[in-house]
Amino acid sequence: MLMLPDDFQPAIVPPADSEQPARWWVFSANGELLVRSAETGLELPLASVWPFAKWPTVRRLYLGTLHGQHCYAAETEQPQPPPGWRFEGLRALWSRLDEAVLGVAGQALQLLEWDRTHQFCGRCGAPTERRGEERARRCPACELIVYPRLSPVIMVRVVHDGRILLARAPRFAPGVYSVLAGFVEAGETLEQALHREVAEEVGIQVRNLRYFASQSWPFPHSLMVAFTADYAGGEVQADGQELLDAGWFAPDELPGLPSPMSMAWRLIQDFIAPETK
Ligand SMILES: [Zn+2]
Repeated sequence: MLMLPDDFQPAIVPPADSEQPARWWVFSANGELLVRSAETGLELPLASVWPFAKWPTVRRLYLGTLHGQHCYAAETEQPQPPPGWRFEGLRALWSRLDEAVLGVAGQALQLLEWDRTHQFCGRCGAPTERRGEERARRCPACELIVYPRLSPVIMVRVVHDGRILLARAPRFAPGVYSVLAGFVEAGETLEQALHREVAEEVGIQVRNLRYFASQSWPFPHSLMVAFTADYAGGEVQADGQELLDAGWFAPDELPGLPSPMSMAWRLIQDFIAPETK
C-alpha cells in the first residue's frame, strides 16, 4: 500500500540548522528515484547539505520529518546518476524499498511535478513564487494562488452471484484485468461518477455502494477512492474503446491481476479473502 507513514510529519519551512543528516528523495526528469544498494537494502542519499556538488538540482522542496529525520525532495535534469547510484521508477521499487521511504517518495514525486508545472501563472502568465507559509505557489502580478492538485478517481468492485466484474483496458499489460475505475468530473459526487463510469464502460447498473478505502496514486496526482457495489441490472458489454473486454469471474478462475501496489489489487484480494476490519 502506497501511503505516507504514520510517523511522517509534513512541514513547509526547512530547519535553520543543517547539522543533522537529512534524507534526500532525488528524482530524475522522468520521475525515477535515485537509490543505491547497501548491505541493509536500498538506500537514499543521507546528508545535511546537498551531497552532489557537481550535480545541480532544478528544484528542491522541504517535506518534513520521517522518524525525526529531515526530508527533502529534489529534481535533477542530469541524465546520468552520480557514480555508485542509479535511478529506478517507483513501481519497480515496490516491495524492494522500505515501505515508509516509498510512501514519502509518492508525496515527493507528486509535489515536484506540481512545482515544475506551475512555474507560471495560469491566469496572466507571470512567473509564480513559492509561498513560505503554506504549500502553494503565488502569482505576484495577479495574486492567483495555486495548491498541489489532486485528481480523484473512483474505483468499484462489482459482485454478482459470487463472481467479480473485471475488465481489460488497452493500456494494461497482456492478460491483465482489473476493477472499473474513472476520473470524477467537475460537479459530480463520487457516487454519481461511479454510476456514470459503470454505465459508460460496461452498460450495467449497480446498487448498495459502500466505501472501501482510498490510496494516493502519484502518477501523476490521483487519489483513488474505492467502493464495493452489487449488480443491479443490465448486460455487461465492454465499450470497445476504454475497455477491450469485461466479464464476471469466480474466485478460482481469475485472470492476470494488477500490481499488488495498487488499490485495485487490494479490492480484488478482499473479494478472494475478505479483509478483517
Ligand atoms: Zn497571474
